[in-house]
Amino acid sequence: MITFQKYVKAETLEEAYTLNQVKNNKIVGGMLWLRLGTPTYNTVIDISGLGLNLIEEDDEQYKIGAMVSLRELETNKSLNDYTDNAIQNALKDVIGVQFRNLATIGGSIWGRFGFSDVLTVFLALDTYVELYKGGIVSLAEFSKMKYDRDILLHIIVKKKPCKCVYDSVRIQRTDFPVLTCAASIIDDEYKIVIGARSGKALLYGDEKGMLSGGITTENAAAFAGELSKCVPTSTNNRGSAAYRSRLVNVLTERNLLKLGGLM
Ligand SMILES: Cc1cc2nc3c(=O)[nH]c(=O)nc-3n(C[C@H](O)[C@H](O)[C@H](O)COP(=O)(O)OP(=O)(O)OC[C@H]3O[C@@H](n4cnc5c(N)ncnc54)[C@H](O)[C@@H]3O)c2cc1C
Repeated sequence: MITFQKYVKAETLEEAYTLNQVKNNKIVGGMLWLRLGTPTYNTVIDISGLGLNLIEEDDEQYKIGAMVSLRELETNKSLNDYTDNAIQNALKDVIGVQFRNLATIGGSIWGRFGFSDVLTVFLALDTYVELYKGGIVSLAEFSKMKYDRDILLHIIVKKKPCKCVYDSVRIQRTDFPVLTCAASIIDDEYKIVIGARSGKALLYGDEKGMLSGGITTENAAAFAGELSKCVPTSTNNRGSAAYRSRLVNVLTERNLLKLGGLM
């Protein structure tokens, strides 16, 4: 059970940031991950009163506050129209509706969890994070950064001509995924993201131009075969490295065929 000495509902971002610099103080989102285990904190910092609970949209981008719940993302019509329901597909198996009503996008992206459907799907979009002190950095860069004591304010998704698909394999619905795969084409550039390898999601492009000229059944199979040889996979209690590599092949090919309208 989580224990903490003090609870502070921050009134300003500066107050939240200052408190967060103290060792053993902790920002909380939905607290669903934090409550696991038996952590003990001095002060937990609630940032729910700082206006970070909105999905804002203009012609150029979506700006998603860190306290927006996974359920709000899953049911946001505009975001799902833009991503061909990839966001909904990525989130629908995360435990259940009540859980997704509480889990925040801020906690999910900040965690950079190895099993994350959330990280996988947002890496396939043109996504940036806005940090209180660190400014705006691409999600790809953020996913590789070390954990520090900054605050994640917003997730920014640039609106560009985009097609996106998402798939995952689970032993049973609502379990952690055995493998996740998102594929997109944004401004004629392919992005393939493989997560739950078991390790943090990794982003790949079509550096060799195998898919240039459009997706065919042949080049989708060839690309997927090559990718499955270079994505690092490992074994845990959900699947072996060899099984995961096989899934990289299958899910990548399937997602490319869907992207190309061939499936
Ligand atoms: C049992 C279980 C099963 C799950 N299964 C899946 C799954 O299948 N797929 C999937 O994608 N995810 C899964 N998750 C993860 C879940 O979706 C959330 O990502 C997770 O609960 C964190 O969200 P939260 O809002 O609860 O964050 P919290 O638990 O409150 O915080 C998580 C971490 O992020 C930090 N943090 C939170 N917000 C901020 C912020 N704005 N700025 C800086 N730091 C911040 C916290 O200090 C903490 O270190 C699962 C979680 C649990 C507990």
